[in-house]
Amino acid sequence: MPTATTTDAHMFIGGEWIDAADGATLASIDPSTEEVIGEVPAGGPADVERAVGAATAAAASWAATPWPDRARLLRDLAERIRNNAEELAQLDTADAGLPLLGSRGDVAGAAAELEFFAGLGSEVKGDTLPTSAGQVAMTAREPYGVVGRIVPFNHPFKFATGKCAAPLMAGNAVVLKPAEHTSLSALRLAALAEDILPPGVLNVVTGTGPECGAALVAHPAVPRVAFTGSVPTGRAVLSGAAQHIKHVTLELGGKNPMIVFPDADPRRAARAAVAGMNLRRSMGQSCQSNSRVLVHTGVKDAFLAELLDIVAGLRVGDPRDSGTDLGPLAFRAHYDRVTGYVAAGREDGATLLTGGRRPNGLRRGFYLEPTVFGDVRPGMRIAHEEIFGPVIAVTDWVDEDEMIEVANGVEYGLTANVWTDDLSSAHRTARRLQAGLVWVNGEGRKPLGTPFGGFKHSGLGTEGSLEELLSYTRSKTVVINLHDDD
Ligand code: NAD
Repeated sequence: MPTATTTDAHMFIGGEWIDAADGATLASIDPSTEEVIGEVPAGGPADVERAVGAATAAAASWAATPWPDRARLLRDLAERIRNNAEELAQLDTADAGLPLLGSRGDVAGAAAELEFFAGLGSEVKGDTLPTSAGQVAMTAREPYGVVGRIVPFNHPFKFATGKCAAPLMAGNAVVLKPAEHTSLSALRLAALAEDILPPGVLNVVTGTGPECGAALVAHPAVPRVAFTGSVPTGRAVLSGAAQHIKHVTLELGGKNPMIVFPDADPRRAARAAVAGMNLRRSMGQSCQSNSRVLVHTGVKDAFLAELLDIVAGLRVGDPRDSGTDLGPLAFRAHYDRVTGYVAAGREDGATLLTGGRRPNGLRRGFYLEPTVFGDVRPGMRIAHEEIFGPVIAVTDWVDEDEMIEVANGVEYGLTANVWTDDLSSAHRTARRLQAGLVWVNGEGRKPLGTPFGGFKHSGLGTEGSLEELLSYTRSKTVVINLHDDD
């Protein structure tokens, strides 16, 4: 079982710790040192087959477990997580490079999500429906059986845990596949749950997306698939699930606009632009980062001066150091991708206002200075493609209709953030934006229990709320004909 100090790990299937069927492994690399800190099994179809078998065997008795008992077990797991919080945070910091502020917040958030969904257990219920005399019609909600849950690299423990909370509470057994670069804390979750949840109720398979994830998506005995990750993989998941007509939900990428109206206080708006990027928690590797700022020309100069002042004060360095604001990006290929976008911004004619380089004195690790581009125009790649790193693209505007067109003119529609004290501007803009979540004067923190989901290519379905819990059930209608005496 993996800890912050062990060097190898096994998959957790049916209550047992096992290697990949063919013995293959993947290295876990600390992105701050580029050193190998462990190995995880490189699972494939044979391992997925075994995990789905274990989940199928466990599903019926888990579904039959009264919901208050399931809720109690999820709360026990939340408590166990809190009791091991620091070790879990250190593990994600080592494996994913998250600064401790971010990894500690993630662990606390994961425990809170388990408790939130445990508290909703009695809401998994049906209706009675009006009928003619002599009939009773009602609906009941039933779990699917086995749920495949695939999560990305950016908040490893938070997603591994929080995204299993609803399917488990709804009475499903889960096969979880974490991202190949950041699998250690999902395996640690399994270790913490080992003597709390019955064998086979939570299984963790590790491996690459095309080998392990795709086999889970395609498996005929997994009728419900929930995926969090990028748009291209979301498309692959949707088509992989088509053969068996599965219920699929997708939480995908974002290129989220923050809109600054002329009446906004420039200092507060600039602080929110930095907070909403999630730089200090995940270096901007966050689906909900407000990575595009659309600022009115009337406040642009003051806003940019404040923004650059705040960014200049951010410290990039060892994510274990409490003085660090930004750690490294999570892995080499992602670092290359993000720095490729910095080059694209320059090539396309945006003005590099700050950052864009490896910080002085950090010769190893996937570090990048927080970066701000100005004069960004809609056709540029950095204006409409998700970068998923510490890069802010600033565009100015004068005309509100044109600004809305730019804000909505991307394939994504996850979140948006409107900065104004004018009530009419706030309401009008929130209504016009194509996004699943609109903040007014937001700083990027979503209250627990509020629905989260994308419009357009940002996703299908809603998570983090009752709707997510119910999405792990299917509704069955029962119509009873009563025998009258006559
Ligand atoms: P990714 O799509 O590359 O991978 C996500 C997961 O899918 C990983 O576990 C990966 O192994 C797996 N995978 C890859 N190919 C697969 C396939 N063919 N079949 C099945 N599974 C496969 O995403 P990433 O780079 O890990 O994460 C970054 C992306 O996730 C960004 O686009 C970000 O916006 C998005 N994201 C969205 C949300 C949200 O809630 N909307 C939250 C976090 C991250």
